[in-house]
This record gives sequence, structure tokens and C-alpha cells, in this order.
Amino acid sequence: MKNIKDYSLEELKEELKSMQEKPFRAEQIFSWLYQEKVKSFEEMTNLSLSLREKLTKNYTICNFQQIKKQEAKDGTKKYLFDVLDGNAIETVVMEYHHGKTICVSSQIGCKMGCKFCASTGIAFVRNLTAGEIVEQIIAVEQDLQVRISNIVFMGIGEPLDNYENVIKAIRIVNDPKGLNIGARHISVSTSGLVPRIYDLAKENIPCTLSISLHATNNEKRSAMMPVNNRYPIEELLQACKDYIKATNRRISFEYALAKENNDNIEDAKALVKLLKGMLCHVNLIPINKIENGKFIKSSNENILKFRDYLNEHGIVATVRRELGSDIEAACGQLRRKNLGGE
Ligand code: SF4
Repeated sequence: MKNIKDYSLEELKEELKSMQEKPFRAEQIFSWLYQEKVKSFEEMTNLSLSLREKLTKNYTICNFQQIKKQEAKDGTKKYLFDVLDGNAIETVVMEYHHGKTICVSSQIGCKMGCKFCASTGIAFVRNLTAGEIVEQIIAVEQDLQVRISNIVFMGIGEPLDNYENVIKAIRIVNDPKGLNIGARHISVSTSGLVPRIYDLAKENIPCTLSISLHATNNEKRSAMMPVNNRYPIEELLQACKDYIKATNRRISFEYALAKENNDNIEDAKALVKLLKGMLCHVNLIPINKIENGKFIKSSNENILKFRDYLNEHGIVATVRRELGSDIEAACGQLRRKNLGGE
């Protein structure tokens, strides 16, 4: 059966027309799904009984089941959701002073194989559909009885490797008749799929593009992120410059600091050289120690030295607050523990 949450508002209007129904019904259905967050078509009481029956016969609403929920001392919550086909995905909610940020997964497993990532042990199964991406937000809002204010595509999966579904999910989330969360509150992260960065520049979606950079030369970056063999640093940074030129939007570079790997002042110097003059911000991430992982977190002293060097040399850098460290915050860890991904 088709998932009704996989349709954008425009697509749903077309779908209704093909059922000999008036297109404005799509807006009513959207309102039930995304504002009222109902779990069945029977609850859509301003639709005729015959339409509700047709919908029930042909579509599902995709209500995720919670398999597990963990809560950290700092308020971070991690959910493991059953996506209703025997697979499970992970969604994280973090508390910031400006509201609640949700970190959504975009794929079941991931093909990218970044060496510092806990998802690396989980084989790629499939892309999530647009509706399954959106459902993560709805399921969390319902569980916590709150409104999510920010969305980051930094959970399991490479978002730009599931491009069409991620873009459609953003449009549903962004739609004033959908979840009505502004694109400026949405951040899409990529390990560096260069052709898709050019595609994203053409979408006219003012979300934040976040690049997982993590190293300043190809040798180091390829050792951490195999995707760098396909799209080396020079190509990636050229794509970033072209993205900034096309969108006039600031890019966020993610840099996970690992002890004695990429955290010394020479690396900071090289990073300044690479990013000088770009409209960007650097997010320094104290790397999470992963079971069996070979990367270890940098000392606090090194992290602050690295940050200060960047700031003193014209690159705006901040250190990301570590959230959820007592509940295994690196992506993939919750899922792996429960499902035996390795
Ligand atoms: S860091 Fe992201 S892109 Fe890399 S393996 Fe993990 S989930 Fe995939």
C-alpha cells in the first residue's frame, strides 16, 4: 500500500484528482496529517465517508512504532523506530536554548563507510521514503508533546545519496500546510557528494548545507572518509565555493577532532588556508569514541587551541556542545546495540 505521507501537497492534489475528488481535499488531508497528526483516516471527519473508505483501502498513514527510547542526563533523547517492514531507524532529539533540534536518519544503513562513524558496521539496506523521513518528526512531536524547531539531516545515512526523497521531505516539512518548519531551520549534511551539491544549489531551498570535512589533505581525508577517493578536497571545496556563489548562503564545515590524527596546529593552519575568504563557519566536534573505533577524542586543551587558532585567523569556529554522551551519541550506536549491526 502507498504511504500517504510520501506525497507533497501538489502530488496529493493530483492523486485526489485521479480519484475524481476535489483537489482542496488534499489540503484538508495535509492539515489532519501534519497539524492534527491523526493516526487514521477515520479521524479525518470533514472528509466524506466514501473518501475516508477509499483512502483506508488504498493508503497507509505510516505510524512508526517505538522500539526503544533512551534519555541522557542533558535531556537528549534517542529513539529507535520500527519502520514497519522489519527494519529500524534511529532518531535523536537534542535540547538547545533556542528549542528542540531533531536529528533524522535518511537511509537504513549507509554506503559511505566513514571510519569514525558507528553506522559503518551497518550494511546499507535501503533509502527511506520522504514520508518515513517526515514521520520521524511527527512521531517525536507526538511522543514529547512538543513542537520541533530545528531539523538536522545528520542521523544514519548520507542525505544527498537519497536526494529526491530528502528534497521532498524538506518540502513537506517546509510547507505552511505541512509541518511548517522554515527552511532556515533545516540543515542538510553531506560527506561530500559533489554533483548533488550542485543540484542542491539549484533547488532554491534556503536550508543550511553542512559539509563533513574532517581533514585538510586528501591522504588524511581518504583514510577517514572513502568518499574522498571519488571527490577529493579540491573538487569538494570548488563545489562549495560555487554553491555559495549561487545561493549566497553560508556553508557550515564539520570537523571532528580526533587525537593525534587531525587536531594539531598544523592542521588548523592548513584549514585556515583552505577556507580563507569563504562565507563559512566551522563546527568543531569532539569525536565520540566508538566501540572498536580507532579514533579517540582530542583533549579539551587541543580542541580549544584549535578553535582559537581558527578564530584568530579569520575563520569563525565554535565547538559543538557534546550532547547525549551517556547514551552513545554517535549515529548508529543505538541501532547497532539493538540489532547487532556488526
Ligand atoms: S558519518 Fe554519515 S555519511 Fe559517513 S558513514 Fe556515518 S552515516 Fe554515513
